[in-house]
Amino acid sequence: MLMDDFITVGGRLRRAALPEEKKHQVFVPKRSEVAKLLVLEAHKSVGHMGRGAILMDLWQRYWVLGIGALIKNVVSKCVVCRRYNTKASHQKMATLPTERLMSDKPVFDNTGLDMFGPFEIKQGRSMVKRYGLLFNFAWLQEPYIWRLFRQQTLTNA
Ligand SMILES: [Zn+2]
Repeated sequence: MLMDDFITVGGRLRRAALPEEKKHQVFVPKRSEVAKLLVLEAHKSVGHMGRGAILMDLWQRYWVLGIGALIKNVVSKCVVCRRYNTKASHQKMATLPTERLMSDKPVFDNTGLDMFGPFEIKQGRSMVKRYGLLFNFAWLQEPYIWRLFRQQTLTNA
């Protein structure tokens, strides 16, 4: 059918109580820029919903044959949809060192020690010096910090 210089869909709804544009949708070539813009507008007007909602909105006024691939193309390039549909990234974990996997080894077999300080710490009204002792166990991921009250050495004597 030709209506206002546009090719429209004929169909069987001539006697339906609907507006003319809903009974006889305008044909739009699928490879045209107009079809792409219409799909983009419909996608935005339905709140970035998917294929079914876009088709329902578009079929109110326009008829594009073979529109599925165009919808898929437009939705895949939509920045808003890409932002909300992106999968969360996961941290890649390295393989564990062999020292952490040997369960038969004694606990303090692979341990690093480091003493640091002094730090000035306020205690009551006076300032005191404190040191820290850093344990780095191979079997534990986090280092363990032990507070020393004064610089001293541990002896068995
Ligand atoms: Zn979108």
